[in-house]
Amino acid sequence: MTSLPLVFDAPRRGLPPRHLADLTADERRAAVAELGEKPFRANQLSNHYFARLTADPAAMTDIPAATRDRLADSLLPPLLTVVRHVTCDDGSTRKTLWKAHDGTLLESVLMRYPDRVTLCVSSQAGCGMACPFCATGQGGLQRNLSTAEIVDQVRAAAATLRDGELGDPGRLSNIVFMGMGEPLANFGRVLAAVHRICDPAPDGFGISQRSVTVSTVGLVPGIRKLTEEGLQVRLAVSLHTPDDELRDTLVPVNTRWKVAEVLDAARGYADRTGRRVSIEYALIRDINDQPWRADLLGKLLHKHLGQFAHVNVIPLNPTPGSKWDASPKPVEREFVRRVKEQGVECTVRDTRGQEIAAACGQLAAEG
Ligand code: SF4
Repeated sequence: MTSLPLVFDAPRRGLPPRHLADLTADERRAAVAELGEKPFRANQLSNHYFARLTADPAAMTDIPAATRDRLADSLLPPLLTVVRHVTCDDGSTRKTLWKAHDGTLLESVLMRYPDRVTLCVSSQAGCGMACPFCATGQGGLQRNLSTAEIVDQVRAAAATLRDGELGDPGRLSNIVFMGMGEPLANFGRVLAAVHRICDPAPDGFGISQRSVTVSTVGLVPGIRKLTEEGLQVRLAVSLHTPDDELRDTLVPVNTRWKVAEVLDAARGYADRTGRRVSIEYALIRDINDQPWRADLLGKLLHKHLGQFAHVNVIPLNPTPGSKWDASPKPVEREFVRRVKEQGVECTVRDTRGQEIAAACGQLAAEG
């Protein structure tokens, strides 16, 4: 088996203190018992956090005040504070910039569609993958986010919707790990976050695994590890071009794992889960939008993934001052037509957040 790269699960440097949402249900009970409290207090805390969506100890009035303070000190450290919200798309998209306990900045984007509400979460602050067309990639990786920092983005969004702060009161239905960072480079914490997101209340938020998408630029050992977990989450692979020569520059991690290896790993995931894999393709003018690349993409996907491939073409969201731009619409249409001609499903993303400059090439995209 391939050994894991160094980027996996870097040390806890800079991470916040332990939080309730970092822990499994058993660990929560053990942590409460260590504080000299009855284990059922863990269930009460979990019920407040995961079912009632509150992280404010003062609102947990069914727990005696002294106990509440002790539990809160140890298990509910403040994690994220809002720096600002930016809303666009007639109020149906809201990006939130968060500040963590150490001043680290991260963001999440909440998108309301007629049939679903999707939250795009960050799994790292910054990103170490250095894709040249992406603003986040230019700043490098600041640090991994803790499980609870990922989970708290979800709790806050679910509370926002319930309280009607983004239109009529609603329910968060989908989560995409397509914000800042490469989720599989923070594997253990992302996996734990998926469990918190999907476990039934009060141990988690009870969102269906099938409504969660984990994206990757193609960390093959990470895809294999995820496969072994036997979950039902959707896998999204940011391919962006079918040929290694260009991909080595567009997605630098390709110098380590080539296109064919990535697609084979994705096939392994599809075989295990029975789920289609989303192939993300940020279409960039005169870079990766040529007809021959569309043909090659269709052929490769047909060969490696067959009916398990679904290409999502994402019109590039240009970052200010960048030389990268979106392809013209006729070029985009021809690209999609050619991929489909090879028998592979291909659609163009409804890109949200264009006017609020969603930073990452993957941000505001959804499977
Ligand atoms: S596109 Fe995604 S993986 Fe690439 S640098 Fe940006 S955040 Fe990282």
